[in-house]
Amino acid sequence: MEIENLAFLKHFFRFNRRVYLDHNATTPVSRRVQREMTRVLTSHYGNPSSLYGIARKSAEMVEKARRQVAGAVGADAAEIIFTSCATESNNAVVHAASAHFFPGRKKIITTPIEHPSVLNTLAHLQTRGVVVEVCPVDGRGRLRLDELERQIDADTFLVCCIVANNETGVIQDIRAVAEIAQRHGALVLADCVQAPGKIPVDLHGWGVDYAAFSAHKLYGPKGIGALYVKQGSPFEPLLHGGHQEGGLRAGTESLHNIVGFGAACQDVKTLLAHAPETRALRRRLIERLKQAKPDCVINSPEEAECLPNTLSVTFPGVENAELMAMLDFRGVAVSAGSACSTGDDAPSHVLQALGISAQAARQTIRFSLGRDNTAADIDYTVRVIRDTLAGRTPVVNMGPALVNESILFDEGTFILDVRPPDDRRRYKGLPNAHEVPGFSLTVEKYLKQIPRDKRILVVCPGGGLSVMVSYYLKAKGYPRVTNLRGGLDAWRARRGDLYQKYAGQNIQMLEPDEAG
Ligand code: PLP
Repeated sequence: MEIENLAFLKHFFRFNRRVYLDHNATTPVSRRVQREMTRVLTSHYGNPSSLYGIARKSAEMVEKARRQVAGAVGADAAEIIFTSCATESNNAVVHAASAHFFPGRKKIITTPIEHPSVLNTLAHLQTRGVVVEVCPVDGRGRLRLDELERQIDADTFLVCCIVANNETGVIQDIRAVAEIAQRHGALVLADCVQAPGKIPVDLHGWGVDYAAFSAHKLYGPKGIGALYVKQGSPFEPLLHGGHQEGGLRAGTESLHNIVGFGAACQDVKTLLAHAPETRALRRRLIERLKQAKPDCVINSPEEAECLPNTLSVTFPGVENAELMAMLDFRGVAVSAGSACSTGDDAPSHVLQALGISAQAARQTIRFSLGRDNTAADIDYTVRVIRDTLAGRTPVVNMGPALVNESILFDEGTFILDVRPPDDRRRYKGLPNAHEVPGFSLTVEKYLKQIPRDKRILVVCPGGGLSVMVSYYLKAKGYPRVTNLRGGLDAWRARRGDLYQKYAGQNIQMLEPDEAG
């Protein structure tokens, strides 16, 4: 390797900056919550169901936390059941309502933009004969109340409605939904997971029958949720066993998590007071993004109908996988508008319900801000995006789950496989890959065949050799170079389905330039 090419090594030193813009996925646990939880873990081990002193103290702590949660969401403490997560809460309601009404009444109405914990539970119940109808949303993601009025009938026993959507931030008129449902004798499940601390939650005022919450979305711990069941609404437990939670949810209480949830709820008022600042940062983000890429499309609705912290943006012509990988490399955490971030290639059902094409969904990023974000965080994030769009990027590291069909078969991507020959003999390569014969830390003999106007995706077995080659290419002036993080081994492990389906197809062996 020529000595001047070593300049690329400077890119190895990662940027230290960390910007977390994925608060709708989860939030950091606040200091106060940590302290309260530590206190429980170190000193309060009594089982709340037992009858002696330390157990009674634990039981008191559970009840205090119940009051704190109820107080933050406009409910009575007696209406709150602690669960393991909001997924459990949603499951429990859908099953309980079905058990109560079905088969006498058969129909559940849902929005197309619910969380999978609702949609997949409904899909499961459909296999048992429950009729599920999807009420459409408009282009902003607001439930079509006129359609709800048209669809709802005497057979409908439940309406599932996400109060604030995790992907776009759209807020529903839940009071109006509950009013329509009530008129037709149907109950309402409100998925409120993204609401507390971002918008006021008033369960009694809204008139809903059930609501789901999760502590880890509001600076509390993971693994603890709550379920609101309005007094008098039918309910039966999902988990049977002991008589915890008034016999409505069996299982020894997760005391430290429950106390953590209660403590987190005490901050809801402060979080709400902070919302205008978050909204101002969101505005700044929109402004700066529009300057960086004037044709970017904001998928989130207008401020009045949107969570203060959530922004879904489509960047036409830019794969979100590449942008996310670049942001990750520079220390910025965001998530994709497409579920591909979880290894599933299906474009987001939420964006598609808004009429956004599958291709645009794969060009979409969700930013979700939190209380610790600053204007400097926003400016830094947009700077990284600007650099990426302008090709002023060091090597992008792409996680194996992101290397999906749209990348493997993308005309604008040139896959460069620099595996040593023994690995090539053992495993098939990525489809459409260009393999470099032999073994080398550079690919200097093949540069004429490696196009400069495409994204170069460099792959090797473990992701180390390809990093070296990636930086070599970067130093040679290639604008868009992406390294497969963890290499082909990780990709095969993560995407065995794609390996089985496509590996080995259309592989080309590069010839040394001199030979031509
Ligand atoms: N509902 C919504 C709207 C969510 O955003 C989430 C989490 O992402 C859930 C439900 C599930 O929450 P949990 O992680 O507590 O199961």
